[in-house]
Amino acid sequence: MNTNRFEALPLAAPLQQVLKELGYEEPSPIQAQAIPILLQGKDLLGCAQTGTGKTASFALPILQQLHERRKTVRPKACRALVLAPTRELAGQVGKSFATYGKLVKFRQTLIYGGVGSVPQINAMRNGVDVLVATPGRLLDLIDQRHVDLSQVEFFVLDEVDRMLDMGFLRDVKRIISLLPSRRQSLFFSATLAPNIVELAKTILEGSRAR
Ligand code: AMP
Repeated sequence: MNTNRFEALPLAAPLQQVLKELGYEEPSPIQAQAIPILLQGKDLLGCAQTGTGKTASFALPILQQLHERRKTVRPKACRALVLAPTRELAGQVGKSFATYGKLVKFRQTLIYGGVGSVPQINAMRNGVDVLVATPGRLLDLIDQRHVDLSQVEFFVLDEVDRMLDMGFLRDVKRIISLLPSRRQSLFFSATLAPNIVELAKTILEGSRAR
């Protein structure tokens, strides 16, 4: 399905309402392609750069599924995990979830390095719906048993090319090994170099790039 109006996408009322308030009319190409696929619960390998609207292309379908299937999150756990390469990008993704999910009841927090970990540990104590994290600090907190990935239903690997450039491959692979095998996986990269496709193949089941 390819559509050029948000109203034509099967997005729930609280999301349509926010999009209207934001003045978004047309989905960008990545949004028009990815949103219907992701709402069906399929995996996705998306080739998209920052500025293409890719954050909404994964945040909207995740928020919709959280909204439709409310669940109690266990202590230290999360339902959606988004990995981003830097603190700045993690912050931007967190802001986007807050904006697009303004009318959806959900909790989220950020985990990144370079700052004290106590507030992050406290924020995870009762579990969250959405956790946006950079790989290194996330692994530290997992190793210290402050974060539990066994409840993850949605896994997003954002800016994969930058993640690999920054030497996070081993960390990312370790994090993936801790995820439940039954999950929806979303993988976004600005380029599709062979090492990126290779990593994507090990992560994604079902659908590939469209
Ligand atoms: P992103 O590529 O996700 O970082 O988004 C780039 C910018 O485009 C952000 O400031 C978004 O708020 C904005 N944006 C995303 N999707 C749309 C859309 N469909 N219409 C207008 N603006 C958008």
